[in-house]
Amino acid sequence: MKDTMEDPINQAVFLSPHYDDAVLSCGGTLNLLRRKNISCSVITLFAGSPTGELSTFATWFHGVWKLPYDATAYRREENRKALIALNAQELSLDFQSSIYRRDPSTGTILYNTKGDVFGGNWKDDDSLLFDLIGRCRELLTHKGDFYLIAPLGVGNHIDHLLTQTAASHLSQELEDAKLTYYEELPYATQSEAVPIALRRQSPPPQTSVLVPLSEEDLKAKYVASKQYQSQLEATAGAVGISIEEIINYGKKLGQASGLNFTERFWFTDSHIAEQFSLATQ
Ligand SMILES: [Zn+2]
Repeated sequence: MKDTMEDPINQAVFLSPHYDDAVLSCGGTLNLLRRKNISCSVITLFAGSPTGELSTFATWFHGVWKLPYDATAYRREENRKALIALNAQELSLDFQSSIYRRDPSTGTILYNTKGDVFGGNWKDDDSLLFDLIGRCRELLTHKGDFYLIAPLGVGNHIDHLLTQTAASHLSQELEDAKLTYYEELPYATQSEAVPIALRRQSPPPQTSVLVPLSEEDLKAKYVASKQYQSQLEATAGAVGISIEEIINYGKKLGQASGLNFTERFWFTDSHIAEQFSLATQ
């Protein structure tokens, strides 16, 4: 037994590459943490509006989402409503999503296909990574201990991988940041997607924690997820997100442990995993 009791951590900061990632992946846990008086904030990193002419690729996405030129403004509003429903603080940075990004020196669009965006190669854009780390650092310094809850990189989306890499750097720089990874949904529902994401990291996160969620948490996740109208199958058809599929994944994950509904988190540090597990039981 330790001589001194550790103070429980009472803050959690979720890094969300795009507006819907944290809520679709961790909406139940966001609700649970609030129930346990752990304050939650969600920082969306790639939340900037487009500039200049849209590429054919971005135009295609806007068509699927049924959103006009500044689709980001609509998505910001969807996210605002979702986070109000979950009682979480909303913060965002104005980095543009991959489909809008251009080469800073030539102005040419960087990513023109799904293969580019989900190919795992962010073209050695170290200056973007450096800027992401810097802007997050400004928001995260001198907070006191907090869970830094970041995407694991499931699905290989370059914006997710950049966020994961930034989080890993930040956790090394900031002693207060207790690094926790979430499985991105709906990507995690694809077979092998989670093991691939785990293997990409060195060392791979080895400890997982299943957060047991109540009916109330499940309902809160459902209500919050419904706010992302433009991204759901009701609007975006076959390429839209199915909330049912996400909920079923959470149910399946818990089955072996006799749990109704869960969300899963991963850790490289087993002590942080233990703290997080205690905080969420
Ligand atoms: Zn995303």
